[in-house]
Amino acid sequence: MDRAETVRTPSSWVVVGLDNGGTCNNATVLDATGQFLVSNLVENPSRVLEGPESAVEALAEAFTGILELTSTPFSLVRAVGLDTPGPASANGVISSKGGTNFNMAAWHGFDIRSALEKRLGLSVIYHNDANAAALYAHHRHFGTEALGKSSVSAIVGTGLGGGVVENGKVIRGAAGMAGELGHVQIPLHGVLEDGQPVPACNCGFDGDVESIASLTGIKKNLLPYWLTRFPDHPLAGEPIERAAKLLRGYGEKDDPLAIAVFSQQARAIGKLFTIAANFTDPDAYFLGGGVVEAAPHFRQWFLNTVRENTQLRDEQAQAATFALVPDLDMAGARGAAVAALDAVAAGAR
Ligand SMILES: [Zn+2]
Repeated sequence: MDRAETVRTPSSWVVVGLDNGGTCNNATVLDATGQFLVSNLVENPSRVLEGPESAVEALAEAFTGILELTSTPFSLVRAVGLDTPGPASANGVISSKGGTNFNMAAWHGFDIRSALEKRLGLSVIYHNDANAAALYAHHRHFGTEALGKSSVSAIVGTGLGGGVVENGKVIRGAAGMAGELGHVQIPLHGVLEDGQPVPACNCGFDGDVESIASLTGIKKNLLPYWLTRFPDHPLAGEPIERAAKLLRGYGEKDDPLAIAVFSQQARAIGKLFTIAANFTDPDAYFLGGGVVEAAPHFRQWFLNTVRENTQLRDEQAQAATFALVPDLDMAGARGAAVAALDAVAAGAR
């Protein structure tokens, strides 16, 4: 008998969380008492660019690997939580137009949740990656009170991912498109400079949150504008793609151009949270993404700027908190596992 089995009772059970990304899968195990059995990032190649068949097999390998690592027998697993980048339906059907990671025609309209369920012979609960991260942030922040609380998360990456959680559950929406906060259009007064062109988003909207608060927004909209104001800046000599990625390093050193760009991002997120305040009036506003991995003084400045630009009524300001999403590289897998645990618990009630 292995060491892990000796400490388990016959009634104990677990769920597995699998986070599918463009390069890697990340896996975790969560037991029935809400404890994660894995404290670090456990990854394997996701093989999404080879198509659905290879990718589902890679997810199955991640599943088997994490059970081996934690000495967990298959018979103890009640369900699997899975998250992938979008766009996908609430039940894990990849968009009929594909997506950044799912460009290959075989992915278009592919039901990854059902395919994994069939492959593993276990029930699979699906969320998109931003919703999974939002769910994890919510449960980590509120702990045993999570089911009575609400939150809104904005996660700044290549795009702007979001999640709306009410009473501990992710709001999915009729078509599974709730919480797409990046494509909420915001008032631009107080965000843009006089004469600055209105930023455009890949979704077709002008002036939505993602057109400003994302790496794509920096590359397409903010940096090209701000370089006209700082023509002698060292980043003016770099290709725009590389300049956009280098910008955070400049921000950490309080470079005026970088501060101007990130300040616009933080103000845009503040405008979004102001809309959220009037929409679901959440207990907490969470901020995640690359900025969370930045130097502490920089991320605190960013969070403070978001908070200063979120207009709350006095009663709301007293009731609500602002926080960074923790453990971001593990947030997807952990959130997916939390969703699976909730689903098993709901089935038992
Ligand atoms: Zn958009």
